[in-house]
Amino acid sequence: MTELKINFERLWQELEELARIGQDPRGGISRPSFSLADLEARKWLKEKIEAAGLTYRQDSAGNIFGRLAGKTPQVVMAGSHLDTVVNGGRFDGSVGVLSALECLRRIKEENLELYRTLELASFTDEEGNLVGDFLGSRAFTGQLKEEQLKNARTQFGPPLAEIVEKAGLKVENIPLAARERPEILAFLELHIEQGPILEEEEIPIGLVTTIAGKRYFQATFVGRSGHAGTIPMELRQDAFISLADFALRANQLVLRKYEDNTLTIGRVVLKPGSFSIIPGEADFTLDLRSQNRQELEELEKEILKLAREVAATRGLSFYQQLVDSTEPIVVPGSILNRLKALSERLGYDYRLISSGAGHDSQILAAICPVGLIFIPSPEGLSHVPDEKINPSDLEKGANLLLQALLELASV
Ligand SMILES: [Zn+2]
Repeated sequence: MTELKINFERLWQELEELARIGQDPRGGISRPSFSLADLEARKWLKEKIEAAGLTYRQDSAGNIFGRLAGKTPQVVMAGSHLDTVVNGGRFDGSVGVLSALECLRRIKEENLELYRTLELASFTDEEGNLVGDFLGSRAFTGQLKEEQLKNARTQFGPPLAEIVEKAGLKVENIPLAARERPEILAFLELHIEQGPILEEEEIPIGLVTTIAGKRYFQATFVGRSGHAGTIPMELRQDAFISLADFALRANQLVLRKYEDNTLTIGRVVLKPGSFSIIPGEADFTLDLRSQNRQELEELEKEILKLAREVAATRGLSFYQQLVDSTEPIVVPGSILNRLKALSERLGYDYRLISSGAGHDSQILAAICPVGLIFIPSPEGLSHVPDEKINPSDLEKGANLLLQALLELASV
């Protein structure tokens, strides 16, 4: 028996269509959730879902679903997100949603009888352009913190309430998405790797074993500003020097003691920020990631302790505020072994890989077994206009997703 395959030309064509929505004159695609471009993409997806003969549904968090009913209402779900970072690429997220659409559409075209129900999902604001990552999947799984919504202002200025209203949603109803959720048996996500490993090893499929958790802090060293010419070096409480000292020591600590974990200081703002004034304040972001829950907790404790020690030694103060956190997850063997066996059956070369980036599947892991399939990101490019994929890798990834969905939807 020849195995059911996706219609690759159709999938590629739809990726191109979607990439035209939200083209940014400054480069790439800007499609943050509930922007005009995102609203257009949502309308486009709704039309595709309905044209495919699937049942369209949107929940209170603006998550979009397409349903192909089986004999039982229990759902096997696949999807990702259609929103992008500002000046992002055309494949991050889109690949997962449109592959899931293609899989369900092919199954529908063949009139295959399903025991379980299949749904595709497109989750709201995975990229966290509004008020923190994973707004949609967090709402869907009942993991949304009240303070993320109430009076939340978005990075674009207007309050979240005002932004979601444009999509016909109410901010106070967003957490209701969890109550509207059907029973979910498994969730699968196809995504670009966003790193260089698969391309370097010329392997088309990455089967993710663990997804890193993170702690994201906004932190500050507070010292004293003063004249750059009149205050002797040894009498200074220079916030930048403390930050520099901390950054170096923290990096060494991670390399020495927390192999495979990461620490990144991505943004630094010095105040008052003038070339002739000693900086009295150094505000910075601190991003800690680990594939292991216990290590992440220890890393967090030790890094914050180090920051306080550096501050105390130099006569400054240190403050930090936790902005966002996710827990690391381990992909269950039941899903991983199935994906391995299917890759072998399809003749696709694969390797096991861990994900340093967060994904909707990580959030879904709180309510059901999840699987995450990577395809290579040439040159490791992601979240940039030049983001790319090899069509043949996508074809393999989508066919693997199709077979996995068929198996999971069978008795
Ligand atoms: Zn993504």
